[in-house]
Amino acid sequence: MSLTVLNPATEDVIAELEPAGAEETDAAVARALAAYPAWRAVAPGDRARLLRRLATLVEDHAEELARIESRNVGKPISGARGEVGMIADVFHFYAGAVDKHHGQTIPVAGGVDFTFREPLGVVGLIVPWNFPLNIASWKLGPALACGNTVVLKPAELTPLSALRLAELALEAGIPEGVLDVVAGPGRIVGQRLVEHPDVAKIGFTGSTEVGRSVMEGAAGTIKRVTLELGGKSANVVFADADLERAAAAAPYAVFDNAGQDCCARSRILVERSGYDRFVDALVTATRNVKVGDPASEDTEMGPLISAEHRAKVASYVDGATLFTGDAPEGRGFYFPCTLVEATNDDRVAREEVFGPVAAVIPFDDEADAVRIANDTPYGLSGSIWTRDGARALRVARALETGVISINSNSSVRVATPFGGFKQSGFGRELGLNALDGYSEVKNVFYSTAS
Ligand code: NDP
Repeated sequence: MSLTVLNPATEDVIAELEPAGAEETDAAVARALAAYPAWRAVAPGDRARLLRRLATLVEDHAEELARIESRNVGKPISGARGEVGMIADVFHFYAGAVDKHHGQTIPVAGGVDFTFREPLGVVGLIVPWNFPLNIASWKLGPALACGNTVVLKPAELTPLSALRLAELALEAGIPEGVLDVVAGPGRIVGQRLVEHPDVAKIGFTGSTEVGRSVMEGAAGTIKRVTLELGGKSANVVFADADLERAAAAAPYAVFDNAGQDCCARSRILVERSGYDRFVDALVTATRNVKVGDPASEDTEMGPLISAEHRAKVASYVDGATLFTGDAPEGRGFYFPCTLVEATNDDRVAREEVFGPVAAVIPFDDEADAVRIANDTPYGLSGSIWTRDGARALRVARALETGVISINSNSSVRVATPFGGFKQSGFGRELGLNALDGYSEVKNVFYSTAS
């Protein structure tokens, strides 16, 4: 059976690949294991130079990579360009971090005690289809910087950008076997990486359900795991906020990437006293979102990833809506921007829709807002809109979530830690924190007794 790769905006086949299976996965792990001793021995400055070269090659091929990603995921080309820019920045950042992630000396009796940051060995990286290369880079950067070798498994639906990156890594001079890409089904290739005795760690981004099975599978060999899972984040808007600004920004916090974003603020919580004014402005702003051909420069939202996924998203909209936008008809897995009024107990407010559907939920006061925001098994991101600085900080501390923005909806930056509380996972990506997930602390005591 071949692996058929589609353009979700046209439903055209853009590639047919031979899918990898367990045998190819084992071979890639064996190559990574063989490459490990030499890669970990590369002098820090040289490893940094190789990562910097990769970053530069990503910049040189930025338009090509953005077009691959836009065609394969259905992302608007302008957004895809931004993502590729971030990928280059991620490799630059971790190139600069190679020689800044060091150990300690600790005062003890009878000698000298110091620590090393050791690489883990072969790491398996399993990534989803929503931000294929972007999310891969968040894991590759720190993994390679720490001296690990990597087997990367892209999602079956979106393998093309990862395969191209592996070619660029070789062109950058990163030795064979240090970064291998194995494109095949998760239940075979992914599962094999999770259970493989020579894989020391799994860095995973995807659904909470598969994350749970990764954790179970990793238990057999006590593998380290980092899990970036689903979210149902709250965008909390107080009546004293700049409501027009909050409403103008809110659609892009849900409908960006057609809502297929683990950080999507898909529950918009609005204080009752400002509710009508906010909702009017929200509907106007949502009406202005430009939905259409991802290749057009001014498109802001493209299609969903697949017909199957569109059917799942549609199942969350079964009654009256506050607003339903327009979407192209005919070919392409398009779904319109949709606003529904909900309570926090409704299915649309409890489950990760992963599509352009936002649940708008009124609240009474600060305590009520915090209660509703935290009433979810997830805890990935969230936003707070208010002009009261003390309240912003009180609420930020009270929310059970890993990443929060105040008077903004942006969660992700190269230099700052990203990751979840509760069933959104654990471990941190990006920033210097990510290096901790791809290294082990070794403690050495050196006796000075004569
Ligand atoms: P999955 O969790 O199924 O997929 C994520 C990755 O895991 C893919 O590479 C997939 O491979 C792989 N995988 C699947 N099964 C296994 C397994 N048994 N062992 C190891 N790896 C496996 O997410 P989906 O892509 O199916 O999306 C489903 C839902 O997950 C979405 O609707 C959304 O709610 C959520 N999601 C959240 C993301 C996030 O960023 N937090 C990202 C993507 C999805 P393959 O696809 O090749 O089979």
